[in-house]
Amino acid sequence: MRQLIAGNWKMNGLAASLDQIDALARALSAKAPHTDVLVCPPATLLQRAAMRGQGAFAVGGQDCHAMAAGAFTGDVSAPMLADAGATAVILGHSERRQGHGETDALVNAKVCSAWRAGLLSVICVGETEAEREEGRALDVVAGQLAGSVPDAATGDITAIAYEPVWAIGAGKTPSMQDIASMHRHIRAQLAGRFGLNSERIRILYGGSVKPSNARDILALEGVDGALVGGASLKAAEFLAIIEAAQRRS
Ligand code: PEP
Repeated sequence: MRQLIAGNWKMNGLAASLDQIDALARALSAKAPHTDVLVCPPATLLQRAAMRGQGAFAVGGQDCHAMAAGAFTGDVSAPMLADAGATAVILGHSERRQGHGETDALVNAKVCSAWRAGLLSVICVGETEAEREEGRALDVVAGQLAGSVPDAATGDITAIAYEPVWAIGAGKTPSMQDIASMHRHIRAQLAGRFGLNSERIRILYGGSVKPSNARDILALEGVDGALVGGASLKAAEFLAIIEAAQRRS
């Protein structure tokens, strides 16, 4: 299974940032990476990023509405993302769960909508610092998986991103042991529910991945890629993380 390195630009990036897209496209076209690469810019840049990426990497959205169209002012639907050139969408990011009150049920509905539009869903789960300190991290993540991942999940259309909330944008990461053990736990939850269909669902780690720690994190057994926030904004840093990805069959 090829690792997937996904960049989440969040609410960052104006037209000038397309220079970074150009630099990434140039570098990846010159040296085909042994990993899958996805860039999720803000919706305003999606179509231009898809065009300028020239197929050197996939482009995705950061959220979508659960409905395909309708009277939902300000929202973007999955078919709209696909129409703009996206092949994937991040769903259930903690910034949406916390800042926009997204529940597991809503994330689940959004994933179904994304699938209907032909998009890979990168479904985010992860515990808060308090939940980890209370010893509830495994249970919290199991609950999020049970509620957010729809029954029809397969590896072609689903990836899971384990993102401990306290590590996002914080410059701190769990120990390598804790990352590996959570990834084992997620893999076991998926296997228990989806059996053979779960085997090709990639489990990414996210939370302060940067060039200096990417190699160690991506070498961990059970880590099938990374979801990268801040360090995906600069092509050079993101490329260093892509280069740290493991060569896996
Ligand atoms: C993220 O927002 O998904 C993320 C992992 O952010 P950062 O890499 O900046 O911690």
